[in-house]
Amino acid sequence: MVTYLVLMGAPGAGKGTQAKKLQESLGLPQVATGDLFRENLKNNTPLGQLARTYMDKGELVPDEVTVAMVKDRLLRPDCANGAILDGFPRTIVQADKLNDLLLELGGQINLVPYIYVTQDVLVERLLKRAQLEGRADDNEETIRNRMRVYQEQTAPLLDYYRQKGLLAEINGEKTVEVVYENLLTAVQQATTN
Ligand code: AMP
Repeated sequence: MVTYLVLMGAPGAGKGTQAKKLQESLGLPQVATGDLFRENLKNNTPLGQLARTYMDKGELVPDEVTVAMVKDRLLRPDCANGAILDGFPRTIVQADKLNDLLLELGGQINLVPYIYVTQDVLVERLLKRAQLEGRADDNEETIRNRMRVYQEQTAPLLDYYRQKGLLAEINGEKTVEVVYENLLTAVQQATTN
């Protein structure tokens, strides 16, 4: 069975950590658009150069470019059984394009786990990550902008997926292990029905 999961949650909610754990247990690759952009940035590709101007400000890279990159990634052989999408879609336009793309690939979204965490905890986590990883976009000003962009452009997707009956709300303020167990249970329920 082809399985596509879309992990949702604000920056700092723990999507990346959980996606990495899930990819091992489910045998599905994590497709993280932020990581793909950072890889392009590191290799100084034209896509990386374009993405940098947006990432540095905490803005979204244009939909067209992002969707093309995801399409390219989902067509690779390791995604034959599906994927765990992390950080995509982030706009309604991207979500609509994803539906079209999955239709083409003969699949559909099985579940949208939404990891929710309060704003104060998010900012605290992101600032800590800035110290540990030195990510260029983890400074206070950019963090604030990423939160704003999330509220304005990405949060509407929660209702979009809730209305489709796909949203599974997971409390992200528990330990990494407990969040993971709750996620796995939700995914297993959605994929065995
Ligand atoms: P992330 O690692 O998911 O927090 O993403 C880091 C940055 O990459 C974001 O602030 C955006 O500039 C860019 N980015 C990642 N995913 C997307 C997306 N789906 N659409 C547009 N821009 C994105």
